[in-house]
Amino acid sequence: MTRQYELVERVLRYQPNADEALLNRAYVYAMKAHGNQKRASGAPYFSHPLEVAAILAEMRLDDATIATALLHDTIEDTDTTRGEIDALFGREIGTLVDGLTKIKKLDLVTKKAEQAENFRKLLLAISSDIRVLLVKLADRLHNMRTLEHMKPAKRKIIAEETMDIYAPLAGRMGMQWLREELEDHAFRSLNQEAYSAVVERLKILRERNQGLIDEIEAALTSKLEGAEVGSIVAGREKKPYAIWSKMERKQISLEQLSDIYAFRIVVPQVEDCYRALSVVHTTWHAVPGRFKDYISNPKQNDYQSIHTTIVGPRHQRVELQIRTERMHSVAEYGVAAHALYKDANGANGKSGVPSQDSSAYRWLRHLVGMLLDGDNPEEFLEHTKLELFQDQVFCFTPKGRLIALPRGANPIDFAYAVHTDVGNTCVGAKINGRPMPLVTELRNGDEVEIICSKAQLPPSAWQSLAVTGKARSAIRRATRDAVRAQYGKLGREILVRAFQRREKTFSEESLAAALGRLSQKTAEDVMAAVGRGELASADVVRAVFPEEKSQEPAKRRRKVKRTEEGWFGLGKVMGLKFRWPGSSGRPREEQGPISIPIRGLRGDLPVNFADGGAVPGDRIVGILNPGQGITIYPIHAEALKAFDEEPERWIDVTWDIDEDNPQRFPAKLAVTVLNEPGSLAQIASVIGEADGNIDNIKMTNRVHDYTEILIDLEVWDLKHLNDIIAGLRAKDMVSSAARASA
Ligand code: MN
Repeated sequence: MTRQYELVERVLRYQPNADEALLNRAYVYAMKAHGNQKRASGAPYFSHPLEVAAILAEMRLDDATIATALLHDTIEDTDTTRGEIDALFGREIGTLVDGLTKIKKLDLVTKKAEQAENFRKLLLAISSDIRVLLVKLADRLHNMRTLEHMKPAKRKIIAEETMDIYAPLAGRMGMQWLREELEDHAFRSLNQEAYSAVVERLKILRERNQGLIDEIEAALTSKLEGAEVGSIVAGREKKPYAIWSKMERKQISLEQLSDIYAFRIVVPQVEDCYRALSVVHTTWHAVPGRFKDYISNPKQNDYQSIHTTIVGPRHQRVELQIRTERMHSVAEYGVAAHALYKDANGANGKSGVPSQDSSAYRWLRHLVGMLLDGDNPEEFLEHTKLELFQDQVFCFTPKGRLIALPRGANPIDFAYAVHTDVGNTCVGAKINGRPMPLVTELRNGDEVEIICSKAQLPPSAWQSLAVTGKARSAIRRATRDAVRAQYGKLGREILVRAFQRREKTFSEESLAAALGRLSQKTAEDVMAAVGRGELASADVVRAVFPEEKSQEPAKRRRKVKRTEEGWFGLGKVMGLKFRWPGSSGRPREEQGPISIPIRGLRGDLPVNFADGGAVPGDRIVGILNPGQGITIYPIHAEALKAFDEEPERWIDVTWDIDEDNPQRFPAKLAVTVLNEPGSLAQIASVIGEADGNIDNIKMTNRVHDYTEILIDLEVWDLKHLNDIIAGLRAKDMVSSAARASA
């Protein structure tokens, strides 16, 4: 156990102006407060806060942090109150201890329902002062070092929490040694078998390669000395978890594993890094594709180093990191390391207080900002509450943006989570800098770079590969658009031929004048409608050249009067219940069930049309309303956007029209007319003459000279509806007529 004077001396060594009395008071206070409490190991409880303080002293943190470490369990585990800490040690330390007390109670892995909220609280507590996180990580490290004394069930929870939350957080804060040690303890506890296998393998390799580390160290040192590069070379064996995760990542077996040694060359100046690199590369062969310059391109957590792998003296692959002393401190101590250089730079601030300006800290602030940002509640809700935290992986874009995804998610989900356009144009992915298949399951802390190509359209098969609803519905939408484009192409070919037959040349511009007559918005719409067979090419030709007499006599419109018998008959055959949408003038219920001739429906769920209706010729989709049946929407309905995130509710349906038993379908029109006497009568007569049945008329939105009229009507099909719209648009007093979307 570290003694009081040892701890104080250690702090004074790196922070000569440290408040010695404060440290002594905190030491004595905590020792008394914990009294004769014991740890699970049987050791006096006070040994724990003392060790935590010692870990932080090694990281050279300021006196307030060390005092906080000594006091960190007093409020939670003894009679001490926040008020007492404030009174005895000041508000700064009181706030820090209070932050630690708050997060101690958070259960981050077991109570599913509370995880998201708890994670939120954790981030809030640690973001107010980064020292709370540093003390928490040191606390967790000491608990992990002494984990074997805990009961197995408790051990598992602590290990999971460490692996999923604290180790990645340490990594993100740039504290690599801490991350590695936390991961290693957690790995041993969570996967005992794998841990033993790796340790066993390491033992064998160590025996086989006896003296190898020394030999390589000596070779590197002498070569660098020869080139007059002052350096310190240090070799080390990688940690079992680092080796294990590499095996998993690269899908290699323990037997194939060879590069388990990593060497570090630490030099005084940045230029020396490149000189050392040239010495290494001219002396030994470099392994292709393994060179990375994080000096000119630092990682998001401020990490800088040159990485390379060479084939070493015994034909062994040797991983090398080349960095300056300062880079080394940043790599090891992360956010805490900035404190070491503050005074040297003449910057203000107490020595030993971690910098709030590091990129890692900015990342944390950003994450918390996102949590608190009222504009973006869905983003975070999606991240945390809907998908429970334990079932999530946290990944990062190359720029350090955090992307939270459900477990099992792959780069496709990642791409769509970044942006729909990124997803739609995604062709490949690099995970932690390596090209990987798009189906690779992402893991906590992965850095994912999406490779895009403009020419790409998402294959519809991705719908089943994607895990998130967002990705699936976006793929569905993009596929739909792509299908539409294909129909457009087909329609174009049909029209080119139809025009040729009449010795005309087709051009998209020639359609412009006929758009109104065809009730289409754009030339693309016309071509797509022709491609889908909703619009006859002959009708398009007639619309473009109305002066030309048509070769074929126009077909007579079906003039079938609706008979109650007919409706009832169909209804009985189909066995489907039908509820009319909207407010019809007549009470439909009295007329009994009417059929909806649609294929692709399962079971005997009640079916109805969305408010705007759908008519044959419309591409349609069914939306499942649990407990209420299925609603049919035309695919263009605005209302469908509301279901984009719930692809499981979408049912593929098609029309099943009986030519011998024509049937009418509901539709809704929005017509804007001049406020003139007789306008309404004219509209009614246009619809009546075109054989449309008006169910209901509603006048809304009287603005100045115009009135908007919403008309519920029944038509035979899309072409019939379009004819009616075209007829309305032809009237002078109609300023616009269009289908009203649900
Ligand atoms: Mn503790």
